[in-house]
Amino acid sequence: MRLLIMGPPGAGKGTQAKIIADRYGIPAISTGDIFRANVDAGTPLGLEAKKYMDHGEYVPDEVTNLMVRNRIDEPDADPGFLLDGYPRTLAQVEELDGMIEYTGHKLDAVLVLTVDDDELVNRLLQRAEVEARADDTEDVIRRRQEVYNEQTAPLIEVYRDHGVLVEVNGMGEVDEVTERLLEALGSVDES
Ligand code: ADP
Repeated sequence: MRLLIMGPPGAGKGTQAKIIADRYGIPAISTGDIFRANVDAGTPLGLEAKKYMDHGEYVPDEVTNLMVRNRIDEPDADPGFLLDGYPRTLAQVEELDGMIEYTGHKLDAVLVLTVDDDELVNRLLQRAEVEARADDTEDVIRRRQEVYNEQTAPLIEVYRDHGVLVEVNGMGEVDEVTERLLEALGSVDES
């Protein structure tokens, strides 16, 4: 199963990605988590990524594309994967299409979590208290929302045109959202 999960910052992608991927026995691959792990470890990739992440900007496509390509080449991703936080730009969509086509598979579904704007801000500010992520300050959150609306929201229409979009209501309890996602995925044909 090859899946993507999309939605604005605070939509709950990371939480749901881990649960859904577990159910399907595939890795949940979060570009944000990989970047943060590299920042913490002080790797060259982390030093480069940090320059952008701290301001809510996207890391350049070449850097992100190469990182994802290497990650999905690992053996645990042979049966499939659930990507969280990638692709985020049109150039990344094209790159990912190429990567998947090369392996002779197809993208099975693109999950989109929809959540009200007010709820998004509440969730991010709450997370800021719990996790102390460097990019969860109010200014940076606002910038991340702008960048999402400008660069990433348009991808939803691209995937709708490809006929792979599965939109799910992301409001409510974590379990409720998981149930909705699993139900929606039940009607997706795997290849
Ligand atoms: P969010 O809560 O905003 O969805 P993520 O944890 O997915 O956060 O990502 C955090 C940051 O990592 C982004 O603001 C961006 O700087 C960087 N990043 C993650 N994925 C990508 C990507 N696909 N392309 C470019 N930058 C990315």
